[in-house]
Amino acid sequence: MHAPSSPRRVLVSGAGVAGSALAHRLDRQGFDVTVVEKAASAPAPGRGHAVALGEAAREVADRMGLLPALRAAHVVRRLTTRLDAAGEVRESVRDADDALRVRRGDLLAALRAPLEGRVEFLTGDSVATLDDDGDAVHVAFDSGDFRTYDLVIGAEGPHSNTRRLVFGPERPFHHYHGQVFAGFSLPNDFGLAHETVVWEAPGRRASLTAYGPGEPAHACLTLTREDPPYTVFGDPWAQRELVRGYFPEQVWQLPVLVREMWRAQDLHVDVVGEIRIRAWSHERVALVGDAAWGGSLLAGEGAGKALVGAYVLGEELGAGGPHGGAFARYEELLRGGAEKVPL
Ligand SMILES: Cc1cc2nc3c(=O)[nH]c(=O)nc-3n(C[C@H](O)[C@H](O)[C@H](O)COP(=O)(O)OP(=O)(O)OC[C@H]3O[C@@H](n4cnc5c(N)ncnc54)[C@H](O)[C@@H]3O)c2cc1C
Repeated sequence: MHAPSSPRRVLVSGAGVAGSALAHRLDRQGFDVTVVEKAASAPAPGRGHAVALGEAAREVADRMGLLPALRAAHVVRRLTTRLDAAGEVRESVRDADDALRVRRGDLLAALRAPLEGRVEFLTGDSVATLDDDGDAVHVAFDSGDFRTYDLVIGAEGPHSNTRRLVFGPERPFHHYHGQVFAGFSLPNDFGLAHETVVWEAPGRRASLTAYGPGEPAHACLTLTREDPPYTVFGDPWAQRELVRGYFPEQVWQLPVLVREMWRAQDLHVDVVGEIRIRAWSHERVALVGDAAWGGSLLAGEGAGKALVGAYVLGEELGAGGPHGGAFARYEELLRGGAEKVPL
């Protein structure tokens, strides 16, 4: 089979921030887009940690027509209170907080809404093998389905499946920053509204954030550990045991947080680290978002970078011409940092 020099059929693997944004850009420019997403259901709106979108991400959201939905979902944080290891208040700081801040569930809902009925979604599935023969990429899915695309884009976050299949195992690309975190939602039984409370002890930190009083709160437990506990990541109960072992104190709300972590349906445990990879594309396959440049979650800019990166990749592919040139321009523009991209 001989594919045209301008690719049209694109598989986007991962319907997170980068994958959904890229699918939107490609769909609007006439590409035939399929999205494969491992999760069987979409994250619920109104849930998840809130992400702040910087200037470049807001500009992209505006160009994509998403700003009204994001503004409607904006959450306000007015106060940050820091506690010491004994649970005593060290300081309370009023936040200026003029950032556009939305929960991850709301961001994904805004990104996915314009795709409905336009882009094919394969949910609860994943790419099993990729065979790039130079003219096209032949893809076998876990479900047993088999299809051919002009391009495949890996947007599955820091543990990207596409990256593993094309560039090799994760370890050489992953740089551990010495911390592990556990993020989860829990009922807001704390009387908190529009605020974050942070408990800090040497090597450990627990934060509790709530926006609207009736909405779920979000907790994040962070611990310092010399060696990355990669072996527990396949086992949800071993993850919980590991994190629980670092928070034994009966102070502040720590016992409640540990108990709720145990029950949480949306618990996300991972190492804090960074992905560094020499090239973001190979032949007809490219990476975008955390799959390509996943940075420390503590930097707090991953969602904005994913949005801007996907937009730039979508625009470069949409400009026409061979995909190799588009991939090269995308990488050249983004390597300097998403916030530096001239939009
Ligand atoms: C607890 C926490 C707090 C954070 N706080 C902030 C913050 O305050 N500000 C900020 O900007 N960023 C924050 N981030 C980071 C931000 O969420 C990410 O950087 C951003 O979502 C990256 O987008 P992405 O599209 O690359 O990956 P993701 O949004 O993670 O999306 C990846 C998608 O791929 C899917 N997937 C995974 N494997 C497969 C597979 N094999 N096949 C198909 N699909 C697959 C996943 O289910 C998911 O839908 C935080 C992250 C976490 C975990």
